[in-house]
Amino acid sequence: MQILFVEDDIALAEALTESLQHEGFVVNHLAKGALAINAVKTELPDIVILDLGLPDIDGTDVLKAIRKVSSDLPVLILTARATIDDKVIGLDLGADDYLAKPFEVDELLARLRVFERRASTSKHAGLTIGEVTIDSVSHQVNVNDSIIDMSRREFMVLKALMENAGRVQTRDSLESKLYSWGEEVSSNTIEVHIHHLRKKLPNGFIQTLRGIGYIIKLT
Ligand code: CA
Repeated sequence: MQILFVEDDIALAEALTESLQHEGFVVNHLAKGALAINAVKTELPDIVILDLGLPDIDGTDVLKAIRKVSSDLPVLILTARATIDDKVIGLDLGADDYLAKPFEVDELLARLRVFERRASTSKHAGLTIGEVTIDSVSHQVNVNDSIIDMSRREFMVLKALMENAGRVQTRDSLESKLYSWGEEVSSNTIEVHIHHLRKKLPNGFIQTLRGIGYIIKLT
């Protein structure tokens, strides 16, 4: 799950980014509304966490701009303005959820998991290609009905490839699904994940297009 996190309180942003990454989310942080509006178009995040009190554009206007681009991108508002009126305004403008500061990280995580479940049940909870089945809710992988052990990132690579079967995934696009901005990623990281995945999957399941990327062909 790729989160776009819009928050101008840098100390809070750093602490929260770390907690979310620890839970396996890919977190891209921005401190300004204008940058966030742009990133929604270019980075296609799965969830936006949006602070309302931003230095350049008010969060409610950022939300309006996001809704013009995407009507169904989940947006969770995070704010110190906790009066009922503000909640109603936020939800009326199309926010999906609302969390008042200060809040417990656990509560934020619980709400993010709700979004995650909703996304996987509506899209690809269970996805089968050939002998391989992945379940995005339980994070389980089966090959010919045997359960295969996988690291979280191996699962993310496989999921990205299977959800886009028949289309090439470049190394860059896979990296952006697995790692947050600014996170140290060595140049052969994706190759290493693919190498490990191939040992666990049927021969030829993941194909390399030299110099371009990887593909799982639809059978
Ligand atoms: Ca703020």
